[in-house]
Amino acid sequence: MAQLVGQGGQPIVILPEGTQRYVGRDAQRLNILAARIVAETVRTTLGPKGMDKMLVDSLGDIVITNDGATILDKIDLQHPAAKMMVEVAKTQDEEAGDGTTTAVVIAGELLRKAEELIDQNIHPSIIVKGYTLAVEKAQEILGDIAIKVDPENEETLMKIAKTAITGKSAESHREHLARLAVEAVKQVAEKKDGKFEVDIDNIKIEKKEGESVEESQLIKGVVIDKERVHPRMPKRVERAKIALINDALEVKKTETDAKINITAPDQLYAFLEQEEKMIKDMVDQIVATGANVVFVQKGIDDLAQHYLAKAGILAVRRVKKSDMEKLAKATGAKIVTNVKDLTSEDLGYAELVEERKIAGENMIFVEGCKNPKAVTILIRGGTEHVIDEVERALEDAVKVVKDVMEDGAILPGGGATEIELSIRLDEYGKQVGGKEALAIEAFSDALKIIPKTLAENAGLDTIDVLVKVISEHKTKGKAIGIDVFAGEPADMLERGVIEPVRVKKQAIKSASEAAIMILRIDDVIAAKRVKS
Ligand code: ADP
Repeated sequence: MAQLVGQGGQPIVILPEGTQRYVGRDAQRLNILAARIVAETVRTTLGPKGMDKMLVDSLGDIVITNDGATILDKIDLQHPAAKMMVEVAKTQDEEAGDGTTTAVVIAGELLRKAEELIDQNIHPSIIVKGYTLAVEKAQEILGDIAIKVDPENEETLMKIAKTAITGKSAESHREHLARLAVEAVKQVAEKKDGKFEVDIDNIKIEKKEGESVEESQLIKGVVIDKERVHPRMPKRVERAKIALINDALEVKKTETDAKINITAPDQLYAFLEQEEKMIKDMVDQIVATGANVVFVQKGIDDLAQHYLAKAGILAVRRVKKSDMEKLAKATGAKIVTNVKDLTSEDLGYAELVEERKIAGENMIFVEGCKNPKAVTILIRGGTEHVIDEVERALEDAVKVVKDVMEDGAILPGGGATEIELSIRLDEYGKQVGGKEALAIEAFSDALKIIPKTLAENAGLDTIDVLVKVISEHKTKGKAIGIDVFAGEPADMLERGVIEPVRVKKQAIKSASEAAIMILRIDDVIAAKRVKS
């Protein structure tokens, strides 16, 4: 396959030995198959009744999750088309924060429907054209049917957060977690030109094993999972002036190995004294700025600890870079790389810095910061697996609340929106006509995979429920979807199952982009894999 035969029977080598090449139908079939397998893998996790997956990595570490993006991130996929599906989940996560499983499942179904059309001899370029028209129309329809809401309405935000948490193992604490997410986002939201903007980097999530999830709390400030370096340092500093130092408070080791010959005891004494002086100078420099709290990214020498404690300064060492950045943002301090450059202008401010015991371990709380927008959610829970899944649920909840505060628009969940879109796209397809109409129809059909899967995962009679929900949707209104707990069609707005418009728009956009990209490929040339 990798070589042609030229004139005179001379082979012309075009591709190196071991290269695999698939062309035309073979390429399409294999790519579609690989992508669909990925979609099938996450499909069983969709919705509140979806199951969890246990992933074990090569080191034996276990992750138990229901989150599409996490599942795909953790499994090691090789096929390029399968990897493209992982990208769908990633994009969805970055752009909207939730709806990752939805996006991947829709992408898989779009490809399955496309394959049926290809089998009927419809050229992929026609399918691509139809899908492109459909996705544009879908965005327009979603804009039309979006329900405007008050972005500050507590009840709406709680419902949004709760819908995102439902189905995760953290569900039993959803009321409490949803409240934490809503309060955190409200705290950091800023109004600019009449619109809210939420920078979720201002929300720090910190985890500590122990107690129950219900003990998780929101702290108005930054919490650092570290303790004071010296027991004689103050535990509590009010009106804290904070220095952030991205350096070690130690005498620097020389780059090159040097040997010092000491021949007399007083030389040794002088040498040590010199070292001591350097450390003392460093601490004096800090004291001179008026700082009473110091966060250091690297180490703090024993002697420096002693001098700092003597000066009544609370010091913390080996603070993570990301925490240093959060502290800088929250307290208004400037991170200084060299202690010598530290001035009083570089200091930040917080009303209180205090070391508190949480589950037997000390943590540093920095509260009443200069920038009141900085908050921390401290997650508690029995085991590491529980805490990790609570973290993922909270992250999703925070992001959907952000979406709604920023956009002020929602849509009903439980498949209601996908059914409405499907009905309207069918009508649109009829207007477009021609072969593209078949692709638009396929697109519209593919969206039904969401209500279908929600029903299937809830153990309901899928066909029966789907027929019922579509007919009720047509007669009773566009909020009718499947209430998977009651096992029947219901008004999802009344049941409080709502989602941000941004999640739906993005899910359809990223799913179709991936499907279209895969459909356009008719030649796969894969180099021999180099074993690592
Ligand atoms: P994703 O990663 O796509 O967000 P989820 O597993 O979180 O996947 O499932 C989201 C789907 O579950 C959405 O379609 C949402 O409308 C639906 N859903 C959530 N709660 C309910 C409910 N109580 N009844 C029916 N559907 C629900």
